[in-house]
Amino acid sequence: MTSAFARSEADYNTLTPAAQDAFNQLMEQADTARSNTEYLPLMQALAGLADLPQGEIRKCGCSCWCPVIFDANADGAHVIEESKGYNLGRVQCPTCADRHLETA
Ligand SMILES: [Zn+2]
Ligand SMILES: [Zn+2]
Repeated sequence: MTSAFARSEADYNTLTPAAQDAFNQLMEQADTARSNTEYLPLMQALAGLADLPQGEIRKCGCSCWCPVIFDANADGAHVIEESKGYNLGRVQCPTCADRHLETA
């Protein structure tokens, strides 16, 4: 466990347009990465862009278009849909999972 005061979420909408573009591109690459040697540096770059600790960085996959960027391993994060043949499934952030849990 990290400190309770560690930043665990970021807001996609507060990133600059250039950072949002980079974030989306890195996410696409991470989704189709074939090995951890490809995948892990992408996750590190994503964490850096969002100013979050290293982890399984995801943008909330909730249908409410929530802008939260978070760690998929965080307490309360909810997998809506497992990925099929790709690395990244749809994951709800803890707040969305609490307020309006979704299932595929
Ligand atoms: Zn959310
Ligand atoms: Zn939501």
